[in-house]
Amino acid sequence: MNPEIKSSTSPRREIPLVDLVSQYRNLRDELIPAVEHVLECGNFILGEEVALFEREFARCCGVEHGIGVASGTEALHLALRALGIGPGDEVITAANTFIATAFAISYTGATPVFVDVRADDYNIDVNLLEQALTKRTKAIIPVHLYGQPAHMDAIMQFAHAHHLKVVEDACQAHGARYDGKPVGAFGHAGCFSFYPGKNLGAYGDGGAIVTNDTELAAKLRLLRQYGQSEKYIHAMLGYNSRLDTLQAAILLTKLKHLEAWNEKRRAAAQLYHEFLAESKAVLPREQQNARHVYHLYVIQHERRDALRVELLAKGIQCGIHYPVPLHLQAPYRDARTIPHGVPVTTRLAQRILSLPIYPEISRVQIKRIAQAARALD
Ligand SMILES: *Cc1c(COP(=O)(O)O)cnc(C)c1O
Repeated sequence: MNPEIKSSTSPRREIPLVDLVSQYRNLRDELIPAVEHVLECGNFILGEEVALFEREFARCCGVEHGIGVASGTEALHLALRALGIGPGDEVITAANTFIATAFAISYTGATPVFVDVRADDYNIDVNLLEQALTKRTKAIIPVHLYGQPAHMDAIMQFAHAHHLKVVEDACQAHGARYDGKPVGAFGHAGCFSFYPGKNLGAYGDGGAIVTNDTELAAKLRLLRQYGQSEKYIHAMLGYNSRLDTLQAAILLTKLKHLEAWNEKRRAAAQLYHEFLAESKAVLPREQQNARHVYHLYVIQHERRDALRVELLAKGIQCGIHYPVPLHLQAPYRDARTIPHGVPVTTRLAQRILSLPIYPEISRVQIKRIAQAARALD
């Protein structure tokens, strides 16, 4: 019997937006001993797994240093702080990103300035950067949104020309590459989140900063641990913002699978492209020079809200990343955008829909989602 016909007539299981339990079950035999080892050693704060993971993760990013911290938000916050960003400074970033990118800027006392994104790849529009520039501009945070690298050649050129620091928000793009070079390796610092649903996720919060700057790395190690140069000697105002040893052990185990998982995400995206090729939805497109790692598979649709209802009714979960742009959020009502505002971001917020994607998603599931999505064609 044709299995697809069978599955189309039998009761249907929900398709989640992400599926963390399948991944755990596949990896259980590797994860449990790694966790047990930490529990047996009892070295829960900055134990050896943290240093091991930092070294391995930095190597994967093609940089010298990795610093494990408490979250992706903290990675961004501490990176900006270590680079000397503070009150009176302005930091340019994309209007379409997760709020944490902007919060990290605000935590330092600096002001975020929002620049519109491109409608084709959802990343910051480099042609608009000039308009955002003032005498106070000190840094830029490009975001590799949904797993697609931002246009790093143009961004780095702009930053060099105007003496700006570059902090990459690579929280959605572990393993993505631009011109063959891993994201996170372009700027003064690259920031990653290990929130459970990210391409590389812990079983709790976690984050990391990668950098080739030895001095910056040393400063970040102080900042994440009370500014402590030796026990109870505090060289600066620091924070309690460390990556847990337990999470590091989990991440060290999972890191070995990141490439294979990203390949599976890319294969899933190809299937969506294929099954949705003739539909009315606008599909995500991989930019030239880019290796997209599809943290999210985001389509655009004229009748987004109706499509969402249709998919939910068929047991298919989907998301909107993000429904309310940053400049319309309460803390940023008075924030500055570039003179013409951010019309693309505002329009996208009405049109975008994230379909389920994760390494374990099957061809049959993707076909079912695509068929459901095409009901509105
Ligand atoms: C997840 C995410 C963050 C924040 O990471 P946390 O680990 O949740 O603090 C920042 N920026 C972007 C683009 C993200 O997706």
